[in-house]
Amino acid sequence: MRIEVLGCSGGIGDGRHTTSFLIDDDILIDAGSGALKLTRAAMAKIDHVFITHSHLDHILSLPLLLDSVGNERDKPLQLHAIPEVLVILKDHLFNWRIWPDFSRVPSIKAPFLVFSPLPLGQVWNLTDASGMAREITPIPAHHTVPTSGFHLHGSNGSLLFSGDTNSHPELWRLVGQIPDLLHLVVECSYVSAQRDIAEASRHFHALELASDLAMLELTAEVWITHLKPGAEDEIMAELLGNLPADMRLAIERLKLGQVFHI
Ligand SMILES: [Zn+2]
Ligand SMILES: [Zn+2]
Repeated sequence: MRIEVLGCSGGIGDGRHTTSFLIDDDILIDAGSGALKLTRAAMAKIDHVFITHSHLDHILSLPLLLDSVGNERDKPLQLHAIPEVLVILKDHLFNWRIWPDFSRVPSIKAPFLVFSPLPLGQVWNLTDASGMAREITPIPAHHTVPTSGFHLHGSNGSLLFSGDTNSHPELWRLVGQIPDLLHLVVECSYVSAQRDIAEASRHFHALELASDLAMLELTAEVWITHLKPGAEDEIMAELLGNLPADMRLAIERLKLGQVFHI
């Protein structure tokens, strides 16, 4: 699997984009503002979109993408998420008031969009164009709305993406159970001075993540995502400053345009 970071910021401005990862040329993980950069030809190739949760910074490209290229596709785009997330998107986004219900446009028989519930822990798989296995599984996370992260498993190993979350024992238990984990992409939105906002919005702050990471026996590289705009350097400095020296080398800020192969 080739995984390209289209957006990995907790906000926008000065070139920042919110969460979206392109897998090969046919899958998106989250559809934040990063996906707005795709060409129309690239958008038309997206067959599957996996959404962690319903917050705007993770979905905002999706309604516009469907409207822009739905007509040029010969099959519906499949929207995968845990069932609770799909209910929110049906009720509050594809409800004809905010945006058309594209699961009924242009017709119920041949719509632009199909809702495809994927419960926590259930493995979804699809081979790529050359027959290589690709697996995507929703994993536990803890946020203000129903949320999952995703475990991506390719032919060379695994990448685990936390989605939006704060400290969650089930997430770390799972991390310890993936023997071929190469990359852990985990959010850290705030410095600890903003712990009140972090706790209320259920995001990691740097001290909380540092104390969780210090307890793990990790061999994977750790990539920090979803940092709030303007506070990136401060968050990374506090995080690294509170980790044992031998862990600091394996932890970096996730970069726009970065590509992983798993
Ligand atoms: Zn969120
Ligand atoms: Zn977010």
